[in-house]
Amino acid sequence: MEFAEFARVCEQLEGLSGRLEMRDLLASLLPGLDDVELPVFVRFVQGRVFPDWSAEKLGIGPNLLYEAVAYVAGRKKADVVRLVNETGDPGVAVERLLAHRQQSSFFSESMTLAEVHALLVRVASTAGPQSQQAKMRLLRQGFGSMTPVEARYFARLVLAELRIGIGEGTVRDAIALASGVDPALVEHAQQVKNDLGEVALLAREGPEALGAVSIVPFRPVRLMLAQQGTIAQQLADFGPVAVEYKYDGSRIQFHRSGGIGRCWSRRLEEVTHALPEVVEALLGATRTDVILDAEVVAVGPDGRPLPFQTVLRRFRRKHGVAEAREAIALVPRVFDCLWAGGESLLDRPLAERRARLEQVLAEHLAPQQVLGDEESVRAVYERALAEGHEGVMLKVPGAPYTPGARGRAWVKIKPEAETLDLAVVGAGWGEGRRAGTFGTYELAVQDGGRLLPVGRVATGMTDEDLTTLHALFRDLVIAESGASVILEPRVVFEVGYSEIQASPNYASGYALRFPRFVRVREDKGIDEVETLESLIARYRAQATRNGNGGPRPDPLP
Ligand code: AMP
Repeated sequence: MEFAEFARVCEQLEGLSGRLEMRDLLASLLPGLDDVELPVFVRFVQGRVFPDWSAEKLGIGPNLLYEAVAYVAGRKKADVVRLVNETGDPGVAVERLLAHRQQSSFFSESMTLAEVHALLVRVASTAGPQSQQAKMRLLRQGFGSMTPVEARYFARLVLAELRIGIGEGTVRDAIALASGVDPALVEHAQQVKNDLGEVALLAREGPEALGAVSIVPFRPVRLMLAQQGTIAQQLADFGPVAVEYKYDGSRIQFHRSGGIGRCWSRRLEEVTHALPEVVEALLGATRTDVILDAEVVAVGPDGRPLPFQTVLRRFRRKHGVAEAREAIALVPRVFDCLWAGGESLLDRPLAERRARLEQVLAEHLAPQQVLGDEESVRAVYERALAEGHEGVMLKVPGAPYTPGARGRAWVKIKPEAETLDLAVVGAGWGEGRRAGTFGTYELAVQDGGRLLPVGRVATGMTDEDLTTLHALFRDLVIAESGASVILEPRVVFEVGYSEIQASPNYASGYALRFPRFVRVREDKGIDEVETLESLIARYRAQATRNGNGGPRPDPLP
């Protein structure tokens, strides 16, 4: 497939709004792709260059991109920035600039999809002191051989935001349709493989190949996620629950194979070197090859847990690990086993996985109790809080491990549930004391492949926060217009609020009353922010709680 063809498909998809139409269009294209193109295409339409399990990054921010475009278009970088600011869309801006470029540069060869992929792989693997220049040269080369419309999608791909509104579910269904296999099989294979590109190839082979997927050591799978809930509801709906403390630390997935131990963070970034004592502890506590799910906590001299930020600081550390290790003791609390002795346990019920875990792990096990009455669960919850933990997790003993899924099989119970994890998609320059930094941040929920604004947060940030946040976002500015900027969606804020309101002012159809910044969720990726669906569920629950006549009419069509 030519990259020009891919751009045409993107253009077509951008013009569609129905999920089924998008699925059908994708499904009609997949059979025509060869085995090299298929995985690339499947990742590209999701705005991804690398498999989901890979922590590989292009290492290109808007600045570098605009510089490369300026060069190819024969313009100044300021012109590029101005046009991006005017259009609010780097893709469209790049397209327009290249449309006016001088004729001579049209002579270069056009690129195929696979060649564009290979170019981006080279961009990502360029490291070292001169890497920015080298990356820039590769980008120029890419843009130099593209038509304006190709450049629109190439620019967006580089910024990891394709803006064609396609969610993972749609791509999954398209793969199932194109290969004539059950969508549930595709979903299951995706949970295990964590790369729809590879899953598409397996689907092409047939249902047996899809069904035979298994997790393997040193290839992390997405972590199972929890929903908010209540003790009474969980017991009523599922009967006795497995109760564990909810530790306030950071999640890891530990893999042991052939005597070697490695671990990954919740965002599937490898943290083996940042957490040597955790790796050692888990290697020491196991005898067989395993994949474990655990929370890493920091413990103070009195044995009480230290704040979560302390743990995160250790996750980020690249230098001085040995000193940091002396200052803060990190301990794993292991609560699940995904794979043991060559066998995947994902499809086994929790009770069975727990039994295996107890066999393979000699130490660092997170205690668990299966309880059937509200009073005893509440007693564990009170004790957890008294001991300085965040709350409790209630897990359904009969449920399988579903990577990446947030469902009722795991429910979290904690006192202040009224916070949301939201994507930061824009900001506004501050005034007065806040001049020179951003004074407000625009927040969004996710819905399919889109991010929909739910409001702005301007309180809860100290002066120090404002400075740190500005440094964090400075290089993520995509476009600027007046006092507001559009940010590359990379950062997640945890935000408190007093109420969710229906509101025509934001694209989500909702707004937050009294939003308040709590912290940056560095451990969370954009694909983990609150979904519109769960925001609506909260909105309804709140209406019922407040006794104001049940849910108000849905503001969305
Ligand atoms: P949240 O980050 O609020 O969505 O809560 C879910 C997180 O709680 C998980 O991703 C884990 O990092 C953490 N956690 C702490 N203790 C446990 C536990 N016993 N079981 C599962 N997750 C836990």
